[in-house]
Amino acid sequence: SAAKKDMANYLGRLEKQFTLTPQRMRMIVDSFVEVLERGLEKPEQEVPMLPTFVFGWPTGKEKGSYLAVDLGGTNLRVCHVELEGDGKFEVTQTKYRLTEEQKQGDAQDLFDFCAECLGNFVTDHFGDEDGKVELDEPIPVGFTFSYPCLQEKIDHGVLIRWTKGFGAPGAEGKDCAALFRQGLEKYKVPVDLVALINDTTGTLIASSYVDQATRAGIIFGTGCNAAYMEKIGNIPKIKDLGLPEDAQMAINCEWGAFDSTTHEHLPRTSYDIHIDETSNKPGEQAFEKMIAGLYLGEIFRLVMCELIDEGILFLGQETYKVEKHYVFDTAFLSLIESDTTDELLTVTGLFAHFFSLDTTIAERQFMRRLAVLIGTRAARLSACGIAAIVSKQGLLDEAYDPAKTIGIATDGSLYNKYPKFPQRLEEGLVDIFGEKGRSIKTYHAEDGSGVGAAVIAAMTKERK
Ligand code: ADP
Repeated sequence: SAAKKDMANYLGRLEKQFTLTPQRMRMIVDSFVEVLERGLEKPEQEVPMLPTFVFGWPTGKEKGSYLAVDLGGTNLRVCHVELEGDGKFEVTQTKYRLTEEQKQGDAQDLFDFCAECLGNFVTDHFGDEDGKVELDEPIPVGFTFSYPCLQEKIDHGVLIRWTKGFGAPGAEGKDCAALFRQGLEKYKVPVDLVALINDTTGTLIASSYVDQATRAGIIFGTGCNAAYMEKIGNIPKIKDLGLPEDAQMAINCEWGAFDSTTHEHLPRTSYDIHIDETSNKPGEQAFEKMIAGLYLGEIFRLVMCELIDEGILFLGQETYKVEKHYVFDTAFLSLIESDTTDELLTVTGLFAHFFSLDTTIAERQFMRRLAVLIGTRAARLSACGIAAIVSKQGLLDEAYDPAKTIGIATDGSLYNKYPKFPQRLEEGLVDIFGEKGRSIKTYHAEDGSGVGAAVIAAMTKERK
């Protein structure tokens, strides 16, 4: 049929737009390395390379009882972490879904809510029958606050700008640890906020606590970001602090901002540009917007809408349900890609159930190809970022030992739940580095942000 032929034509065009050749990837890696270095050199660069004041690797022997509050992109998590030493731990957690009002409303209200949830958690876990909490000393809490913050010490952090769709006024330019502390005082929560950390740093440290091969921590969730350990001597912009040059500090790259200023390096499509221009933060997070969970479903939806407008998809049907911004969750792409039936029955069900749309088999096959294109591009772009961190540190230079693993610890739903995302990532690394790339192994760090917050809190206490 005509529609089928149009779909095939479109697919050909989309394939060209979304496919990253190994050569193109290597070019991206080269410019990425330069941008990372620039970020270490001077403040206020495109990729800010933020010093975290987390000094060096954990020993794995850190012990004790800690609380962690994790303000992610989608959920608020409160955990109690018992570090047992020897790289072992126990985690108990409660999750709270954040509403759009909380993400966009007054910032103090948001931090008050975090404090209130933590207060309830403490009462539930440490209180007696009447809900009274009596402790010898306040419980140390690590606050995983995964937005770019300028830190001068571990227990403070000035929010540079919101990302991942947050916009709560009253936080940018303010010390968010202080805002959270105000909430804790308001609710009289018997805790001591000892560290503000990024989830990437948390993942890096949590993974290193159990596996010393860890070299980077990457988040593939609502947003996308990375952290790694850098020699202080390689961070010229903090030279004035007079810290020992041979010591190490974790760097929160905030790599989602890569290519946001010049748009020279990433092959953005019209759909990526559209997402950017209609986002609450146009002109920011160019790299993240091509990779992260918040956006992949929307990219898919925008392509679909274009085909609806062209009269190619869903002929003669009411399509308004799928024409609303951000109604197509990235989890749907996972679902589409995991459908192994010949008839793509899961895809049939998805469109019928959520969008009241009938699909032809040709349409479903098109959807599947489209999901593969978008998911694969995200994984391969992520591989470019990982390759940049590996190259920057010279981990695959002549002296490298092929028997040694370069461990990349990850967390987030995109990595954990999207079919083939890890394989595509590792294939991408081999495309960039050749066989050497096989030394790089990615894996899921169990409870990265919670355990990381606890280990960092423990490391902080030891330093004092
Ligand atoms: P956060 O980053 O907010 O802490 P997650 O790691 O769970 O939390 O990431 C949430 C993001 O992951 C959302 O953007 C959501 O669309 C996406 N997501 C949720 N489930 C899946 C799935 N099964 N496959 C792919 N993406 C998913």
